[in-house]
Amino acid sequence: MSTPPAADEAVSDDELDSALVTARRQLERAATHVDVDPGVVERLKYPTRVQQVSVPLERDDGSVEVFTGYRAQHDDVRGPYKGGLRYHPEVTAEECIGLSMWMTWKCAVMDLPFGGGKGGVAVDPKSLSNDETERLTRRFAEELRNMVGPTKDVPAPDMGTDAQTMAWFMDAYSMQQGETIPGVVTGKPPVIGGSYGREEAPGRSTAIATREAIDYYDRELSNTTVAVQGFGSVGANAARLLEDWGATVVAVSDVNGAIYDPDGIDVDAIPSHDEEPEAVTSYATELADGDSARRLSNADLLELDVDVLIPAAVGNVITADNADAIQADIVVEGANGPTTFAADAILEERDIPVIPDIFANAGGVTVSYFEWLQDINRRQWTLARVNEELEDHMLDAWADVSAAVGDDGLTWRDAAYVVALSRVAEAKETRGLWP
Ligand code: NAD
Repeated sequence: MSTPPAADEAVSDDELDSALVTARRQLERAATHVDVDPGVVERLKYPTRVQQVSVPLERDDGSVEVFTGYRAQHDDVRGPYKGGLRYHPEVTAEECIGLSMWMTWKCAVMDLPFGGGKGGVAVDPKSLSNDETERLTRRFAEELRNMVGPTKDVPAPDMGTDAQTMAWFMDAYSMQQGETIPGVVTGKPPVIGGSYGREEAPGRSTAIATREAIDYYDRELSNTTVAVQGFGSVGANAARLLEDWGATVVAVSDVNGAIYDPDGIDVDAIPSHDEEPEAVTSYATELADGDSARRLSNADLLELDVDVLIPAAVGNVITADNADAIQADIVVEGANGPTTFAADAILEERDIPVIPDIFANAGGVTVSYFEWLQDINRRQWTLARVNEELEDHMLDAWADVSAAVGDDGLTWRDAAYVVALSRVAEAKETRGLWP
């Protein structure tokens, strides 16, 4: 494995698209800041195992098609593997490994008793009927049955999968095990052991991360302007909470484009992606001429002169090509991997703090942990309790990460990785290598 580039060393974005390459670079970089046994770092570069399975599906017309599924399990030294299952045509073993490594750090930085996993099926979910999705999910659950379970590996929804997918997965697993085992997956509907507040949680944690960052830099939320790219589960929930807490959300977007109003946007008036896909675009179209609002491209939204920019749509949107044009004072990563390795170096040089995804959007996996606890104890928590405990976990993790920033002058990303790697490495050194 090559030496990681220094922060100021130019790196082309072409090399950075692979989640695995990025994840290994980030590990190597973090390892330079932590006093850790090189043997432990070497072990963490590789997943424990990656399972590839064939998933035969009988289509509605009676024909049979075979899809390929994967589950990567990166590390379980701190507890069962945890991470999403995605249905997307571009799912590969390598992508699952990279994303499972990120889950290891995300769980560790939040101090959750889980390790990292990720999986999925290489399929376009839009090409499947509801019945086909159910059959595919049940068969995939059966193919993974020996490697998942509440004490082994606990999947969750991800791109192209949702609470219903998790319900089918849990049912298929439970039927074969001969008992109802809700803790095999998280992100289920509350009626079968899902947690209240799970859907909103990554947006809530992104809003909490923003609020804490604003406070850290001695600013006031009431004097803060925010631009949010993506108005889905993460973006819409973060925007609504920040507006509730006094910030002015001046721009939001969906896949078709953005709307910008320097006087502030009434984000409650726009349905989120789940409530009505592409509602930002319809809202922008309805605006009267002469209004202070105007339409922008997604690329322009990223370059607005705002206090906080929250990329909350897709990965690799802040790149070496536009990092010099970012005018926000603080970037908070709502999406996974929105900033490339090269862009990170440019933003660091420009003194623009980036609050990293593994902390900012970790509300999702944190409330998944609460769901797992509720399933094991067969006792449902109220929404108020979920939100209160999420707040506590976020503040504890913020205290740990900001202490690392303060003590060692690290970037927020490096600090989060240092906190995570220290925890994982200490657990590995304490348990030892067997045999
Ligand atoms: P979502 O599907 O609910 O919403 C995505 C939003 O982004 C929609 O408004 C969509 O129109 C918009 N969008 C899609 N492609 C775009 C593009 N190319 N440019 C601009 N906008 C685009 O998705 P989500 O659940 O909110 O997830 C968003 C990001 O957050 C993803 O990176 C996801 O991996 C990450 N994330 C999600 C969760 C979760 O539990 N939902 C948890 C952690 C991280």
